[in-house]
Amino acid sequence: NFKNLGDMLIQNAKKLKSKKYIFFEDKKYTYAEVNKITNKVAHALTNLGLKKGDRVAILLDNSPEFLFSFFGITKCGAVAVPINNFLKQEEIGYILNDCQVKYLITSENYQDFFPYLKENVSSLNATLTYNFLSPHSVNFSELINNEPDNDPPCDFEMDDLAVLIYTSGTTGHPKGAMLTHKNLLSNCDACNKAFKVKKSDRFLLFLPMFHSYAFTTCVLLPTFLGCSIIILRSVMELRSKKFKNVLLFKRPTFFLGVPQVYSALSKAKLPKWFIKFLYPVRIHVSGGAPLPEEILNVFKEKFKRPIIEGYGLSEASPVVAVNRLEWQKPYSVGLPLPDVEVKIVNDDEEELPVGEIGELIVKGPNVMKGYWNLPEATEQAIRNGWLFTGDMAKIDEDGFIYIVDRKKDLIIVKGINVYPREIEELLYQYPGVEAAAVIGVPDEASGEVPVAYVMPKENESLNEKDIKNYLKSHLANFKVPKKIHIVDELPMTATGKVLKRKLKEQVLQSTE
Ligand code: ATP
Repeated sequence: NFKNLGDMLIQNAKKLKSKKYIFFEDKKYTYAEVNKITNKVAHALTNLGLKKGDRVAILLDNSPEFLFSFFGITKCGAVAVPINNFLKQEEIGYILNDCQVKYLITSENYQDFFPYLKENVSSLNATLTYNFLSPHSVNFSELINNEPDNDPPCDFEMDDLAVLIYTSGTTGHPKGAMLTHKNLLSNCDACNKAFKVKKSDRFLLFLPMFHSYAFTTCVLLPTFLGCSIIILRSVMELRSKKFKNVLLFKRPTFFLGVPQVYSALSKAKLPKWFIKFLYPVRIHVSGGAPLPEEILNVFKEKFKRPIIEGYGLSEASPVVAVNRLEWQKPYSVGLPLPDVEVKIVNDDEEELPVGEIGELIVKGPNVMKGYWNLPEATEQAIRNGWLFTGDMAKIDEDGFIYIVDRKKDLIIVKGINVYPREIEELLYQYPGVEAAAVIGVPDEASGEVPVAYVMPKENESLNEKDIKNYLKSHLANFKVPKKIHIVDELPMTATGKVLKRKLKEQVLQSTE
């Protein structure tokens, strides 16, 4: 019944009977307080001349200010552009120029970038910072404090743009996925039905808020339902002593993570009795990247709580499918959300029968309007209302989806398809392996060959020859990587996906 995302917060702030909070460190805000602060942000932005449809970027660490900025922008009918805070100034400049941003809301932590952005982003009227003033920025907190806290009209349409989410660029230049209020609200509604969220659930938010996965499932979904949110500054806090206190005193029940997090948690020093009697989480969700079987099993064994895998992409707001608590299948990313249709097609866009591998395509109210300023890329991605995900998958007789690999990561050895994930899964099972990635590199004799990158666990050493022999005993010869690089680190995205593009660039540079 919400008219748009701004209206959603206004309505929830009014109707919530029991007190629900947004927690952050030693602070907590009720929905009514959040609504008032975001009203002030909206008034301040309107006074700066912001109009419906203008773009405002948010470059902030996880914090309530991120949430205040987002809803403030949204209540003006403007478009929020969350920026990946792992990026360097040139990369940020690229995005700000691409979407012709009017304002950047940020903090002291990013002050080194301000002169560059001022100089290189001509559309940028001002950089607004919370509690900070510099020669290159305006103290936004002062502007906000002087504003009234009454609700702005929020009289815009569901089909208006709400967010531009830039894909992290694991496959090229970042592209701005245009998401509307309807896209995001429908995804919240469908996630709620699939996850069966309880009003009493408390969401733990530690994934980066700029990412579509965390943003929809840990910010919008709880605000849609009026649930409490516990915001952690970053995923690193799961490793600190603070985490135990968060578990004990804030009592999160809903935990949305990525495979890397589950791998790290499996090593956390939490005593068995604590997990048995005091660990408050009732459901863990894994998404954003494939969850290796090995990580899943170790986590389940230690925590003895449900962990369900889901799948999505920024272009679909992002959730497409998820296992259900009442019906899960191992290795599957689950069933499509209630209002989402899926199909598997071949290169001629013909639907394939059950069990056959092809490209996964998706249709539903969560599918983006298109890519910002990229009509050709949009035509490529959305054909006849179907979003082509670029992911190879199969669907079983019950409708469960199994992601096989990314289409662009497929390796073609002497004309035969090799899926890197099959090799990666085996590598994860090899003792002492922390993370692994397999890419295809050009080869004169075979066209392409697989090459593996393997990162050992702390204090473990690995031997290329032994790993090769192990793989040979499990795989056909043409799938065995020609070379296995043992590396100290793998380039990762914010959601723990290996940046295969970076690995490929390294290979190309070394052969030049
Ligand atoms: P780009 O699309 O430019 O590479 P990106 O990686 O940031 O950027 P996202 O929207 O963050 O794009 O990620 C979506 C992709 O993540 C999916 O298309 C899929 O390949 C992968 N993915 C997400 N969840 C899963 C999962 N459970 N299993 C396997 N792959 C997944």
